[in-house]
Amino acid sequence: PWIEPCSELECFMRGLERRNPGQTEFHQAVREFAESVMPYVLENPKYEKAQILERMTEPDRVIIFRVTWEDDEGNVRVNRAWRVQFNNSIGPYKGGLRFHPEVTLDTLKFLGFEQTFKNSLTGLPMGGAKGGANFNPKGKSDREVMRFCQSLMTELNRHIGEDTDVPAGDIGVGSREISFLFGQYKRLQNRFVGALTGKGIAFGGSLIRTEATGYGCVYFCENMLNHVGDSVQGKTCVVSGSGNVATYAVEKATQLGAKAVAMSDSSGFIHDPDGIDAEKLAFIQELKQVKRGRISEYVVQFPHATYHSGERPWTIPCDLAFPCATQNELNLSEANVLMRNGVKAVSEGANMPTELDAVHAFLQAKVMFAPAKAANAGGVAVSGLEQSQNSLRMAWSREEVDKRLQGIMHDIHSKCVQHGVENGFVNYVKGANLAGFIKVADAMCAYGIV
Ligand code: GLU
Repeated sequence: PWIEPCSELECFMRGLERRNPGQTEFHQAVREFAESVMPYVLENPKYEKAQILERMTEPDRVIIFRVTWEDDEGNVRVNRAWRVQFNNSIGPYKGGLRFHPEVTLDTLKFLGFEQTFKNSLTGLPMGGAKGGANFNPKGKSDREVMRFCQSLMTELNRHIGEDTDVPAGDIGVGSREISFLFGQYKRLQNRFVGALTGKGIAFGGSLIRTEATGYGCVYFCENMLNHVGDSVQGKTCVVSGSGNVATYAVEKATQLGAKAVAMSDSSGFIHDPDGIDAEKLAFIQELKQVKRGRISEYVVQFPHATYHSGERPWTIPCDLAFPCATQNELNLSEANVLMRNGVKAVSEGANMPTELDAVHAFLQAKVMFAPAKAANAGGVAVSGLEQSQNSLRMAWSREEVDKRLQGIMHDIHSKCVQHGVENGFVNYVKGANLAGFIKVADAMCAYGIV
C-alpha cells in the first residue's frame, strides 16, 4: 500500500461507516482525506483532543424538501431536493447545485465534504456546501425547467443568502437554471444581492466564471509540469466529458499549445487524432450546450474521427489526462492502461472522478496526480470573485479575473508542494488535503467546543 496501514484510520472509518450506512461515495471521499490527515492529527494533540475528524465529517445541517411542479402535459410531478450545509468555519456556505436523476444524499454529502476543503484551498473566505435534486433536466422543455427551478427556490430561498449560503451550478445546473433560480430568489426576497453565483453578465455575473473550472484545471496542470521543468505545450491530452468543465479545459490546453484528441459524454467518446481545434470545439459546444445533443454527432460533421459507443476514453494514448465528467469515471484498470501508454500527469476537472485504488496506483508509480479539490478549485474561486464584485458593486474585466484565477491556481499549487513533498516527489493528494484541513481545523478549534 502507498500508506502505512494505520489502525486509527480503520477504527475511525468503521465508526463513520456505522453512522452513515450505505453512503459509499461519502465513505470514499472521507477515506481519501483521512488517509492523508490522520497521521497529522495523531501528531497534534490539539486536533485529536478536539475530535476534529469526527466533527468535520458531520455536516452542520442537511435540509431536505419536496419540489412539486407541473409538466407541459399538466401532470403534477414530485422531486426531492437537498441542501447540505457542511461547514461554515471559514466563511458563508458555498457550493453548487446538482440536478441529476441519480442524485442522492450520499452524493451531496461527498460533494459538500470535498467542497469544504477545496474552498479552504482557494484562500477565499468560503465555507462548504452542496445541494441539488433528483430531477433530470434532459428532455425537459425550458418552461418545465423554469417551473421546477421556481418551485425549488420557493423553499430554498429562506435557507440561503449572500452572508449565509451561496449556491452555484454543477452537473445539470448551468446558466439557464441559475437565471431561473436567481430571478425567483430576487422576486421572493425583493433584494438584489449575490446570493447565487454563475449569474448572467447582465445581472451581476463575473466574466470568466463559465470558463474558470476548465481553465483552472489546465493552469494547475501547467503549474505541476513547470515544477518539474516541463509544460503543457506540445502534449497530447485526453479529456472526458463535454460539458462546461471539459469544453474549457480543451480550449485552454489548446491555447497553451497542447492537442486534445478525445472528449466524451455518458454514451461514448470521440477520438480525433488531428486534435479538437477551436473550430471543432465550437461545434461541440453548440451541439451539447445549445442543441443538447449527443457527442456521437461529431463524427457526422468530422468523418475522419471515430466514435466509440459505451466506452470511456482512457484507452487512447496521451501525455495528460483530464477526467472532467463525473465521479468514479476512471478505475484501476483504466489507470493501468493510461500508465502503460505513458501518461505523465492527471488533473481532475470533475469531483472525485478517480477511484481510490486508481489514485493509489498513480501515486505509487509517481505519476503527477492533481486531486479535484486542488485542480478544479478555479470554478468556485471565480464564484468567490463574483461574490466580491457583487459586494463591491463593481465588475472586473476579463483580464483582471483571469489574472486573479491564475494567481489563485498558482498559490494552491504552492500550498500542495509545501504540504505534500515526500523525498522529492510531490504527493498532491496529501498536500491538498493537509493544506485544506489546517485552515478549517484551526478555525474550528479557535471557536472552542461548538
Ligand atoms: N460546482 C462547482 C464545484 O464543484 C462550483 C461551486 C461554486 O461555484 O460554488 O466546485
